[in-house]
Amino acid sequence: MKVIVDLTQCADHGQCVFSAPEVFSLDDDGKLAFRAQTDGDTYISGDLDESMRDDVEEAADVCPLQAIEIED
Ligand code: SF4
Repeated sequence: MKVIVDLTQCADHGQCVFSAPEVFSLDDDGKLAFRAQTDGDTYISGDLDESMRDDVEEAADVCPLQAIEIED
């Protein structure tokens, strides 16, 4: 399972961090930490453990901007 975040949609409000803190975090500037990990507009994670699936699905559900996709 991978997480894909459209950083052009994300507004850095952090709802995903509350749902899946083991995957999502905000940096010291209050930005989604994934922004620092890619030069592009899209962040694609490495393979995440299946144990995180419920939390990641909840994060995708609560994201107000529908910026999170899950790829199996
Ligand atoms: S919930 Fe969505 S819009 Fe908010 S920080 Fe997370 S990815 Fe960005």
